[in-house]
Amino acid sequence: MPDPVQPAPPTVPGQVIDAHTHLFTRGLLEEMLAAMPPDAMKRWRDALKSGKMGRPGREQTLPDMTPQDTAAWYIDRINEAGVAKALVVSVMPDNQWTRDFIVAAKGHVQALCNVDPRDPGSAALLEREMAAGFRGVKLLPVNRCFRLSDPACRPFFEKAAELEAPIIIHYGVTVDPTGDLRYADPLDLSPVARDFPSIQFVIAHFGAGWLGNTLRLAYQCKNVCVDTSGTNNWMDYHVPKLTLPEVFERALTALGPERVLFGTDSGTTAPYRTWIKFQQMRVLEELGLSDGDRDLIARGNAVRIFHMDE
Ligand SMILES: [Zn+2]
Repeated sequence: MPDPVQPAPPTVPGQVIDAHTHLFTRGLLEEMLAAMPPDAMKRWRDALKSGKMGRPGREQTLPDMTPQDTAAWYIDRINEAGVAKALVVSVMPDNQWTRDFIVAAKGHVQALCNVDPRDPGSAALLEREMAAGFRGVKLLPVNRCFRLSDPACRPFFEKAAELEAPIIIHYGVTVDPTGDLRYADPLDLSPVARDFPSIQFVIAHFGAGWLGNTLRLAYQCKNVCVDTSGTNNWMDYHVPKLTLPEVFERALTALGPERVLFGTDSGTTAPYRTWIKFQQMRVLEELGLSDGDRDLIARGNAVRIFHMDE
């Protein structure tokens, strides 16, 4: 039995917060699929059947524990990797398992809820989720095929502004085979970020292939940030060729250190991505940032935007 989880103390400069991670477990998937038609979400159903998840040939075991045991396990895992706290970005809307998990994680791990902002019930769901302890919202326009500029999303954004809920958005390429790249361009956020200047938007993975438009959007709207999370293998498809230090340099020049957030995009069906942390921290060191600026990226921005220390 793992030790009972103690409430997390506030972080201090020098510590690291991973501002983009994932959580997949058997209980979480079971709850989500029970609410869906039997033919929906085949990828997840297959994962439940086999107890494994991941790309073909690289499947890993799906954790099968209670929310409480998962929380203790998750905290050990990030701490072993030298990470003080983590933010889970949910891909499942309205999930009690995840709510139980964040309560059990006692501030070491926080989470963003997931909603479909076109849904007329999304504003009410957001209100319930923020009251349940979520720290904001993750939106998946490419995977779920919607535009945030759609007037149907307006009531959702009005509620997000009222609740001061920050929002991470995945634009660009995705590992999800059902993704539709017609929804991949972050410029679609432009009228929304303009009209809701009090909402903090974070574009994940530097825009996952749409770096140029992400930076242009961030020029126009000062409430737009980026996260660095993931392998950033979108660079392999980028013309002209880019290196990770160049991507960081572009983002830092355009946005400044207070608008770039560190993340690994680690899930729970593979080991924590220590190598990504190592790689990105080395890039920050090589760019010659001050300790203070490095701390903003590795910790401080996540504390400010997602209230990770409250
Ligand atoms: Zn992710």
